[in-house]
Amino acid sequence: MLTNSEKWFTRAKQFLPGGVNSPVRSFKAVGGAPPVFQRGEGAFLFDIDGNCYIDYVGSWGPLILGHAHPEVVEAVIAAVRNGTTFGAPTPAELELAELVVEALPSIEMVRFVNSGTEAAMSAIRLARGFTGRDKIIKFQGCYHGHADMLLAKAGSGVVSFGLPDSQGVPASVTQHTLTVPYNNLAAIEEIFAQFPNEIAAVTVEPIAGNMGVVLPQPKFLSGLRKLTQQHGALLIFDEVITGFRVAFGGAQSLYNVMPDLTCLGKIIGGGFPVGAYGGKKEIMEKLAPLGPVYQAGTLSGNPVAMAAGAATLRLLKRPGTYERLEMLGQKLARGISEAAKKNGVAVYQTRVGSMLCNFFTDGEVVDYDTALTSDTQFYRRYFHGMLQRGVYLAPSQFEASFVSLAHTETEIEQTIAAMSEALAKET
Ligand SMILES: *Cc1c(COP(=O)(O)O)cnc(C)c1O
Repeated sequence: MLTNSEKWFTRAKQFLPGGVNSPVRSFKAVGGAPPVFQRGEGAFLFDIDGNCYIDYVGSWGPLILGHAHPEVVEAVIAAVRNGTTFGAPTPAELELAELVVEALPSIEMVRFVNSGTEAAMSAIRLARGFTGRDKIIKFQGCYHGHADMLLAKAGSGVVSFGLPDSQGVPASVTQHTLTVPYNNLAAIEEIFAQFPNEIAAVTVEPIAGNMGVVLPQPKFLSGLRKLTQQHGALLIFDEVITGFRVAFGGAQSLYNVMPDLTCLGKIIGGGFPVGAYGGKKEIMEKLAPLGPVYQAGTLSGNPVAMAAGAATLRLLKRPGTYERLEMLGQKLARGISEAAKKNGVAVYQTRVGSMLCNFFTDGEVVDYDTALTSDTQFYRRYFHGMLQRGVYLAPSQFEASFVSLAHTETEIEQTIAAMSEALAKET
């Protein structure tokens, strides 16, 4: 007997490529058909077969308050009643801008866009316009959305020219994208020496969240700051995941390293499609209409999305938020470590506050290559074991798990118990 989700997904595959609108949702990495969701409430998701899951995906990061937070829902309804889009200035965009500037220490001015992809792509354009240089450096395993020039990682060798990761991207578009291993300052120094006065920007996830969660080593971010300054290049922090996640002021406030430009997304839209990029006035004023760098958007600063974002940030700003997320994240991580140890499963665990990852490997994970030592077949079995027990994890080893403010210690304990059982069965 097919489940409703299986029937639905079979139909969806006829009309949507892979049955999805974003590849990882298709469960390609773990096999099987994804549950099709009808409703989310707090820490829980409900599928069209009536199954309930404790959710650790949170729509890939945005839902730090959990699903359908009443205050966000009310703010959105109130905004919709006033009309959904004007393509003209509104109070809502200024309110969110002020919240962002107040929160992120390095941002003096901000431009709203509709996705993290747009934010990362536009920040690069601005950095190139500001410096008058073409080359950019990115790190292997860091994801900055799907803009052509950012769909590149290294081939072999420490310093290598970016080869496109996707068909349809001309090599001429990625030829200015230089890629190096995460946490490797020596490789960056080598590139700066090789291309003096040619590097416009170094773009980095200050905590990498798209190859699982990989933490910056102690001198890495401050080293990037120093090197970029020395060589007249801009430092861009892609905080699309980490912004408002690891601290209200993002990873930059946690590590006390100030980038020139910051990209935001996910949480900032409160569950709506929003991205943003911002930084020093001197740089941001190069944007049209003030300056020569063009970037625009019909729905940018959309009042409904701005209202959802502002309601979310106001709730996050209250005292105790990040302490609570830390407590829940720590409890979950500890429980998982113990369950793994008890069952003799090797896990390398990484965590900052409420974002965490369990790599099934016995080595350290410091970059993309070491992340790839993980046993993805084991993850696949573990993932399905958890799904059967009502825990919805990301359908890939190389993604973060997110705890929300809607989770309580009860759900965390249930999750740890489910993991204990799932691992006992697999070992
Ligand atoms: C999700 C993500 C993006 C892309 O954001 P979209 O809204 O999916 O376009 C960019 N950078 C990072 C670090 C991300 O995690």
